[in-house]
Amino acid sequence: MGRVNDTKTALVTGANKGIGYAVAAGLGALGFTVAVGARDDARRAEAVGRLRTAGVDAFGVALDVTSEDSAAEAAATVERTAGRLDVLVNNAGISGRYDGGAQDPTTLDLDVLRTVLDTNVFGVVRVTNAMLPLLRRAPAPRIVNMSSNMGSLTLATGPVLAAYAPSKTMLNSITTQYARRLADTNVIVNAACPGWVATDFTNFAGPRTPEQGAAIALRLATLPDDGPRGGFFDDNGIVPW
Ligand code: NAP
Repeated sequence: MGRVNDTKTALVTGANKGIGYAVAAGLGALGFTVAVGARDDARRAEAVGRLRTAGVDAFGVALDVTSEDSAAEAAATVERTAGRLDVLVNNAGISGRYDGGAQDPTTLDLDVLRTVLDTNVFGVVRVTNAMLPLLRRAPAPRIVNMSSNMGSLTLATGPVLAAYAPSKTMLNSITTQYARRLADTNVIVNAACPGWVATDFTNFAGPRTPEQGAAIALRLATLPDDGPRGGFFDDNGIVPW
């Protein structure tokens, strides 16, 4: 059995860098124990060390979202280490390669599409379903799926990326399916758009900092019990589907 823990625990996937790291730091500053989900041992250890130096109660969780076994082991690690899980932020995501027309719809590389869906969509389902038994035991569970306004069919914004953008459209759709299924429970599920953020993902081209990108996820992770469910939000409010 893990130690009895009165402190709320949050798991962030892809927490070793970028927006995920900023979400982990932000939740830590709010008093959460933070489970740092990351697939690479060295990068995970470095992030846990940095968070602890910043005063965050953090521990590492080996997690590759493309593996069902890894998701199951991650749930066992969280249970063993913290004994509880209150918040899940599904942040891990990839753009997929786009060289040579790989994400031009007219020449779309279906292997790239499969790879992107496996991380950005199936990964969220794997991790969420592995963590739900733990989350359901928490008094006010919250799930935040890191989406993108590039997945908005209404906005149709950003570069043409025919694997990445549809992956976020599907993630939004799956988010609403979870919210409907969990409507009569205390588990609140929403999708977040961080805006255009300077990270490895964007070759540091975006104007926003990772901390600014993390802000909407922090809000959705700490919603009150009567907060919105099954929505898509950024700093300015509702993002159109
Ligand atoms: P990033 O700096 O590239 O970080 C992505 C994170 O996801 C890394 O920690 C990466 O781990 C992890 N990851 C990738 N595949 C994984 C896997 N199979 N298992 C576990 N972890 C995995 O990107 P970011 O900009 O912070 O993006 C974070 C999220 O925000 C993504 O979902 C992205 O789609 C979304 N988003 C970003 C922007 C933006 O402008 N940056 C805009 C809209 C939405 P490794 O270090 O091991 O690769």
